[in-house]
Amino acid sequence: MNLLDLNKKELEDFFVNIGEKKFRAQQTREWIYRGARDFSEMKNLPGELRNRLEKMQEAGEITLGGLKILDMRSASDGSTAKFLFELHDGNTIETVLMRYKYGNSVCVSSQAGCRMGCRFCASTLLGLQRNLTAGEIVAQVLACLRYVKDENDYPLSSNDERIGHIVIMGTGEPLDNYENVKKFTELLNAKDGLDLSLRNITLSTCGLVPVIKKFTEEMPQVNLAISLHASNNTSRSALMPVNDAYPIDELMPAVSAHARKTGRRVTFEYALTAGVNDSEKQAEDLANLLRHYFNHQAGNGGLCHVNLIPLNKVEEIGMEGSGRKQVLAFQKKLEDMGIPATIRREMGADIDAACGQLRLGKK
Ligand code: SF4
Repeated sequence: MNLLDLNKKELEDFFVNIGEKKFRAQQTREWIYRGARDFSEMKNLPGELRNRLEKMQEAGEITLGGLKILDMRSASDGSTAKFLFELHDGNTIETVLMRYKYGNSVCVSSQAGCRMGCRFCASTLLGLQRNLTAGEIVAQVLACLRYVKDENDYPLSSNDERIGHIVIMGTGEPLDNYENVKKFTELLNAKDGLDLSLRNITLSTCGLVPVIKKFTEEMPQVNLAISLHASNNTSRSALMPVNDAYPIDELMPAVSAHARKTGRRVTFEYALTAGVNDSEKQAEDLANLLRHYFNHQAGNGGLCHVNLIPLNKVEEIGMEGSGRKQVLAFQKKLEDMGIPATIRREMGADIDAACGQLRLGKK
């Protein structure tokens, strides 16, 4: 049992079931969410209980996340650290810590592998191994929290370093693992968890329309990002097989309704690939598509934004990102047509930071 899978009530039940006092759950959670890696660090638990929990951990009955760091690469400018973790069953996942002026952000994986088959993505080349549990996703965040504390020699009890933002944009399609991802957001949001606002969490999906509708109803405060990458069905299906099941004319009304109902701005991710989706005409088509679904008559004017991603070159998939000039021209066209567009900071070209690259390197 991964104790990170448990909410407060479930952890209380765990302690009661092993014959301990209920309030031990609260004490343990405090240490967990400060980044403790093992029970010996939980100083206010009685020594006898710590020993007992350690023995249970050694016997494989319980874990505190169970992630083992296989590799960690830090960008030369210190802005990004990328972790390759091994799960208890030998599967591997990647997590990226990004350090901005406004705070620390973590990009988590939601599945080991992915079955969505996007052509530009290294994470799908090995298929889906399995869904991650909520606790395995929480463990990625806590490992990053611990890393930033250790880097600064801060004690575990310090609040000087926090994780302020989460993006669910690493390996896996989060809406293909909906219940666990939902629980993950609840665990982080809990007052005695990380106490992280749901508004500081962004979930990125390739567009599973029925689950987007559920997400709108059940997780309205979490930000939504859509991996769009093309503005018509022919081009999108060539890049993303999911478009055959949920074409643009089904996807866009669901996303438009999401913005209208939640009043929250949706981000459209667009990875610019040389000669595939980066022409001026394609920028114009994209702006027209977004203007059609996001406008004042639709009740969601101004609630969309495009995030242009200069794609890192991934040898295994034989695709190359657009040049800087092309990226800037694409952005200008969108903005000239009234669609706000930003260019994602190019992170970690020196550390294989494209999704799935560390993991591929290990196979
Ligand atoms: S981009 Fe996301 S949804 Fe598509 S294959 Fe990669 S991990 Fe899966």
